[in-house]
Amino acid sequence: MEANIVLLPGDGIGPEVVSAAVRVLEAVARRGGHTFHFSQHLIGGCAIDACGTALTDETLKACQQADAVLLGAVGGPKWDDPTAPVRPEQGLLALRKGLGVFANLRPVKVHPRLVSASPLRPEKLAGVDLVVVRELTGGLYFGQPKGRSLVDGKRRAVDTLEYTEGEIERIVELAFRLAQSRRKKLASVDKANVLESSRLWRQVTVEVSQRFPDVALEHVLVDTAAMRLVANPAAFDVMVTENMFGDILTDEAAVLVGSMGLLPSASLGSGGPGLYEPIHGSAPDIAGQGIANPCGTILSAALLLRHSLGLEAEAVAVERAVERALDDGALTRDLGGSLGTEAMTEEILRRL
Ligand code: NAD
Repeated sequence: MEANIVLLPGDGIGPEVVSAAVRVLEAVARRGGHTFHFSQHLIGGCAIDACGTALTDETLKACQQADAVLLGAVGGPKWDDPTAPVRPEQGLLALRKGLGVFANLRPVKVHPRLVSASPLRPEKLAGVDLVVVRELTGGLYFGQPKGRSLVDGKRRAVDTLEYTEGEIERIVELAFRLAQSRRKKLASVDKANVLESSRLWRQVTVEVSQRFPDVALEHVLVDTAAMRLVANPAAFDVMVTENMFGDILTDEAAVLVGSMGLLPSASLGSGGPGLYEPIHGSAPDIAGQGIANPCGTILSAALLLRHSLGLEAEAVAVERAVERALDDGALTRDLGGSLGTEAMTEEILRRL
């Protein structure tokens, strides 16, 4: 197959880990007889330096016209002033909005070799293999009204948690389909005992569930979900939830694995290009040293192959190559080993 992939390496370790993932994608293309056309653009701090904005119209257009977008990370101390008129993460928000990606998928799989890197006891981690599906474009972060006012001379602040039936339906449907392709278990996380928006979420989820009789649905209150995620994480398969609940639960789930450097993510919409990126940031403390762990970005490239290009066998091959490399003790420094980015990438390529 032929595909156009836009690369947005960004700042800090972004360029280092993206170039590692490109080597893996090139190897996949060679072996499978595919042609991937890569084009590279600026995003984040480097785009602010060059163009005065974190995401130019040209870059957004290139992303919209691509089959998929692979991003490294944005930000760093140079652009960290919270009062600055343009900030690197504005590029990410504008990109998500411009691509219409409403679902953020974060797979979390604990590798047996790495259980000691996790703060949880090893017996809690056996068999952990879950995906959190977070709603990305609605909910508390976007609802209107939001803002400040003065009431009787005292400051007041408002945020609004709003969802429409359509917004809930499309994310829940995506989560059901994902659960169908996995262990056929879906946990819908809400706060229906308190929030009206959660009661609608639950109602719509039950309605959508009629179309997926083969998937076991359970409703879990968000506070219970937070507890169960550390008490018995292996019991979860797919979880789906509102934007802010998802923001918090995905970070909690990430800690199970032990290193930020290992975890991938995918942001999907309906039909357009998907956006793929590791969950970590630009890691300015290790940028330019050639020691960043490329696994999170390489596994993001595997998600790109699966969700945007429909290349399931190739996606599995990349995931297995990473797993085998870790099995054999090929470890970067964040995992207690000594391999640099390039050496780790070589280990993965050898097993592909
Ligand atoms: P971070 O994820 O960049 O780093 C946290 C810690 O994890 C650091 O010690 C770092 O060295 C380590 N780490 C992260 N990724 C690693 C990898 N691949 N291999 C080895 N070690 C790795 O988070 P932070 O320090 O809070 O943020 C740094 C900058 O990144 C900030 O400017 C922040 O705004 C930005 N950020 C960007 C994104 C994004 O682009 N999506 C996400 C989070 C933070």
